[in-house]
Amino acid sequence: MDCFALCENGYCNALSGKCRGENCGFHKTHEEQEQSLEKVRERLRSLPEYQQEAIADKYYGGVRKW
Ligand code: SF4
Repeated sequence: MDCFALCENGYCNALSGKCRGENCGFHKTHEEQEQSLEKVRERLRSLPEYQQEAIADKYYGGVRKW
């Protein structure tokens, strides 16, 4: 299975416990995950400067990672 969250030991990095397999509703390929993250970064870049600064300060140690 090709899921961005799947560890080599068969456990899931996103959800707790073992991978739920083909029927998991949270499955995403690495490419799909990267597309999702890019959408998040686009959204963050679209925010006013003061909001970007507040988010960077609160969650990213003052660094804008987008
Ligand atoms: S398919 Fe679901 S349970 Fe398995 S690694 Fe991906 S997100 Fe986790």
